[in-house]
Amino acid sequence: MATKYYFSTPTLMSIFITNRCNLRCKHCVFAAGEPLKEELSDEQIFNLIDKISTREVICLDFSGGEPLLHKSLFKFIDYAYEKGIKSISIATNSTLINEEIAKRFKKYQGNSDKFNLRISLDGSTAEIHDWLRGEGNFKAAINGLELLKKYNIRPREINMVIHKKNIDDIENVVRFAKEYNSYYVVILPLIISGRAIAIKEFMITPSLWKQTSIICRRLSKQYNIEILCDGPTSCLLDADINLNKPKPCMCGYQFLGISPSGEILPCPITDLSIGNIKNDDLFNLWLNSPILKDIREIENLGGKCVGCEYKIVCRGGCRGLAHTVFNNYNLPDPLCWK
Ligand code: SF4
Ligand code: SF4
Ligand code: SF4
Repeated sequence: MATKYYFSTPTLMSIFITNRCNLRCKHCVFAAGEPLKEELSDEQIFNLIDKISTREVICLDFSGGEPLLHKSLFKFIDYAYEKGIKSISIATNSTLINEEIAKRFKKYQGNSDKFNLRISLDGSTAEIHDWLRGEGNFKAAINGLELLKKYNIRPREINMVIHKKNIDDIENVVRFAKEYNSYYVVILPLIISGRAIAIKEFMITPSLWKQTSIICRRLSKQYNIEILCDGPTSCLLDADINLNKPKPCMCGYQFLGISPSGEILPCPITDLSIGNIKNDDLFNLWLNSPILKDIREIENLGGKCVGCEYKIVCRGGCRGLAHTVFNNYNLPDPLCWK
């Protein structure tokens, strides 16, 4: 088994088309709100789509901030399909979905079964969701989900950020996901970065993360829905670990994100950048960036990963989380309970 393990080109890519957002969530790792001064122009984004379309990218995601606030979002999507990118997704807080937007989504889903919506829902009540996302935003998000349901549009995933105050609400959010016909529920831990630094005491502990992973496996069977809470460290729950099947984090393995100002991000949860598309060739950097080379080499892992029998599968867990907490992506995932 190679100690380095990655695709020859990034297969999953996100373009964070703006930092502008209508919300000011407490946990926003981008501290989104106002657009950045040096955001990519439409022309630069079209050129980026051109470049991406020359590679075997499995999915191109448009995110933000809130991508629905970008005046050219639908032009970017149309162009990406025209250029032959088969699978496209949008990550949205869902509060801005109206009849017109829902009809547009319906058209995309009608033309391609590869148009995916990633919707944020951090709780099943206004009290829980709005604690992070601000008053009135639970109602607005549900309004968006209702419109999707009205037009028979299935979200690909409901994304829930887990912290100490909403762990008991996972099952209720899973019920919402069923109600709105979502294919998946994605459970993500609160990441201490951006605005979330001010609420760091609510980040879950390794033992709560383990408990969350166990709960999700149970709920997945009970509700017959896939719940993705299977970060790399979840291999610790598997009775029979297949050491020939690495389960790496996407960082350095298959994902690249492009920030609103063009920074090339191995993982969007951190501000760690390997270059900028305004000056650098992103596919050349994918192969030659010293940071990516360092991340891919598991012999560079430190702390308790050294000598860990699961290292070849888990590969250090969430490298972005290690970077945000320890300022060192080669230290173990802070939520590893081993
Ligand atoms: S978490 Fe999402 S919806 Fe909330 S402020 Fe950040 S970008 Fe906007
Ligand atoms: S010690 Fe490191 S390699 Fe082992 S399970 Fe934890 S994060 Fe993964
Ligand atoms: S660094 Fe963490 S959040 Fe980023 S891709 Fe890897 S597991 Fe996911």
